[in-house]
Amino acid sequence: MNTSPVLILLGPPGAGKGTQARMLEKQFGLVQLSTGDLLRAAVAAGTPAGQAADAVMKAGALVSDQIVIDILRDRIAGADCAKGVILDGFPRTAVQAAALDELLAENGQKIDAAISLEVDDAAMVERVAGRYTCGGCGEGYHDSFKVPAQDGVCDGCGGTKMKRRTDDNAETVSGRLAAYHTQTAPLISYYEDNGALQRIDAMGEINVISIALSAAINKIIA
Ligand code: AMP
Repeated sequence: MNTSPVLILLGPPGAGKGTQARMLEKQFGLVQLSTGDLLRAAVAAGTPAGQAADAVMKAGALVSDQIVIDILRDRIAGADCAKGVILDGFPRTAVQAAALDELLAENGQKIDAAISLEVDDAAMVERVAGRYTCGGCGEGYHDSFKVPAQDGVCDGCGGTKMKRRTDDNAETVSGRLAAYHTQTAPLISYYEDNGALQRIDAMGEINVISIALSAAINKIIA
């Protein structure tokens, strides 16, 4: 039986799941599991799953449950995940939520908390369309909300290769928000019903949200 923490970050694209998960990873010694990152790696590697996911991701729709569940199942079995995980972008459908419960139960585990980052839709397009990451270390930046100290140079690793996701454009973001509302938002009541839901106001400054999130997690895993 594994008693290490399993946390889920829920929220629409642009809510800050990736940014916050990276900070929590460092702070709590957990592993961030982002199905978006895993899928992008599969696309880049040209695996069969990546080839099937590529066009779907470009269109801003959800990749099939089977592909995502398989990818997650493989990754969560990694030895490093034994210290605990923060799921970022998974589950995104009721089928994925049920599969996750089953997967964890096989290992004597369950979800410690599903944390919903609560934001206004109207702000999300601007948040997503302006973001980019360092190609070297993955640190996230934003044209307006989080610029590096020196233009084009990563504060974390000094790298100068900044990357923008091809699906981070205003058109695709609208589709991704719609997918969130129809397929993922119902999971909020699913986790509320089983007592795992925590809500965090995620409209403010990144550091303020991070403090609220850390405080909530400290209580959960204490
Ligand atoms: P993200 O990096 O979480 O914003 O995900 C980027 C894209 O990957 C999404 O728009 C989906 O096309 C796909 N994706 C990531 N996670 C999932 C998931 N759990 N279920 C289905 N599709 C996903």
